Amino acid sequence: MLLITTIAAVRARREELARAGRRLAFVPTMGALHEGHLRLVRRGRELADEVWASVFVNPTQFGPTEDLASYPRDLEGDRALLDREGTALLFAPSTREIYPRTAATVIDLPQLTRGLCGAHRPGHFQGVALVVAKLLNTVQPHVALFGAKDWQQAAVIRHLVEDLDMPVHVEMVPTARDNDGLALSSRNARLSREQRRAAAVLHRALQCAAQAVRAGERSGARLEAVLATEVGSEPLARLQYAAAVDPETLRPAETVTGSVLLAVAAYLGSTRLIDNLLVEGV
Ligand code: AMP
Repeated sequence: MLLITTIAAVRARREELARAGRRLAFVPTMGALHEGHLRLVRRGRELADEVWASVFVNPTQFGPTEDLASYPRDLEGDRALLDREGTALLFAPSTREIYPRTAATVIDLPQLTRGLCGAHRPGHFQGVALVVAKLLNTVQPHVALFGAKDWQQAAVIRHLVEDLDMPVHVEMVPTARDNDGLALSSRNARLSREQRRAAAVLHRALQCAAQAVRAGERSGARLEAVLATEVGSEPLARLQYAAAVDPETLRPAETVTGSVLLAVAAYLGSTRLIDNLLVEGV
């Protein structure tokens, strides 16, 4: 696997690939890779001739009080995992390479970022949209892969790509979970043993609300109450939001019809975790 740290070197390699007529899949990450990320790589291999990944902890998507400094980093470990999965190239740029100066451009998708995580992380999705746009412009993949765990992020990127006519297919990959249902996340590494046990409540709450939908509950407000009550039953978890939204528009689902996205965010100690579940065929 090639390790590349500059935009110019990625572009040069990309031109070679174009000349060879090979299809490219791209998996952008912030590193500290786990099985969830590797599923994206594997799906990429099914969809293209080569998979490239990036590891870049993007400062512009962290708020001033968020965990940028303490975000887990393990480039050597990431490199080994990606290599084992047959990744052809890893782009691991410095912050200066991506942001030689403060970007003057702001990419805002207000309709999609007013609720859910966007309501609690001002500027977060502007940072995500900017860095993903930059990475897609550099790598120019045929397919870019994103995890359903970060549903709102994937929705933002889908709309960004469509609105700007970027010639890339955005593929969403299902959430990889641990045995107790906890969605895999780089941040899980920061949980104490007790918090790790308690964190399973997020998935339990989602299952409980999904069960309520299947049993006929159609009120978004009542589904949110089910989520909140269930998360509230775990003393170590502090709920940030519980939501039932339209999976496409992300607008609150007053009355559930067709399909609904159930979503939660909660703190376990100082670690913020998110999860969601799509219920279809309602
Ligand atoms: P991150 O490194 O957390 O920015 O994530 C990089 C990509 O991996 C994003 O598209 C995430 O949605 C995706 N991802 C993270 N965790 C999981 C998971 N448990 N299952 C599937 N995809 C995931």
